Amino acid sequence: MSQIPDQLHRFIFENYEVRGELVQLNQTTKDILGGHHYPLAIQRLLSELLVATSLLTATLKFEGSITVQLQGDGPVRFAVINGDHQQRLRGVARYEGVIAENAGLHELIGKGHMMITVIPDEGERYQGIVALDGDTLAACLEGYFAQSEQLPTRIWLKTGLNEEQPKAAGMLIQAMPNSNSEQHALDFEHIVTLTDTIKSEELLDLPAEEVLYRLYHQEEVRLFDPQAVSFVCTCSRSRCEAALLQLGKTEVDALLEEHDEIRMDCDYCGTEYHFSASDVEKIYNDQLTPPETSQGVLH
Ligand SMILES: [Zn+2]
Repeated sequence: MSQIPDQLHRFIFENYEVRGELVQLNQTTKDILGGHHYPLAIQRLLSELLVATSLLTATLKFEGSITVQLQGDGPVRFAVINGDHQQRLRGVARYEGVIAENAGLHELIGKGHMMITVIPDEGERYQGIVALDGDTLAACLEGYFAQSEQLPTRIWLKTGLNEEQPKAAGMLIQAMPNSNSEQHALDFEHIVTLTDTIKSEELLDLPAEEVLYRLYHQEEVRLFDPQAVSFVCTCSRSRCEAALLQLGKTEVDALLEEHDEIRMDCDYCGTEYHFSASDVEKIYNDQLTPPETSQGVLH
């Protein structure tokens, strides 16, 4: 097993107006895919989306979260990863039919788009929709950066298996704001050319410092303290209770008549929440304040 911890590394080049991120995710990938029995092609897609969301979340300049969702008319109805500024990530994919092992982005999603929702803890949410014009998820994300931040950005996403366990890693190289001279463009291209020599197995299996040394040993790179990345699901019994309150007593009573208990499953982590008639009665008697969103699906 790889000893590489799940971490996000930020770095800058001392002599260029260019910044970078490198993330390596073993346990988080395993946790997000675990228990879902996804076909291999979907494991790959979701792993790439996970790395992409981690890289994207690391560009947040405030506390909040980002949801990256792929949606289309293909066999994958949707794939979504949600992450916050503390690099706590979770995600899920829904699909139907048989999926070819080597199916790529367009075969999986069909005609569709990528929806990126930025939700600051304080302030207005922002949603960007990107057409899936690129051949790869990385190319589509680069399109998003070109459109939203207007900063030259390149992204590399790699996935693999380590003794049957999925693993994923990625890099992002971005021009600093206001670095728009011809020389800045050449500097950016220079770093991109160096980064492009990265091999999947290097990015997946080598410690971050070593990856950076191999790529940029002739450059001066300042590496900042890494940030831990983990799988965390934000579902809870109290969120389910709040959802039941929002549904309304009539609806909830109708469900109870049909099933004698209400079960809510979390799509992300698979936790089951059960509510009997007396549980529901207690919830309505306690009169909690309804929150903004709910998590589960009703069965
Ligand atoms: Zn959950």
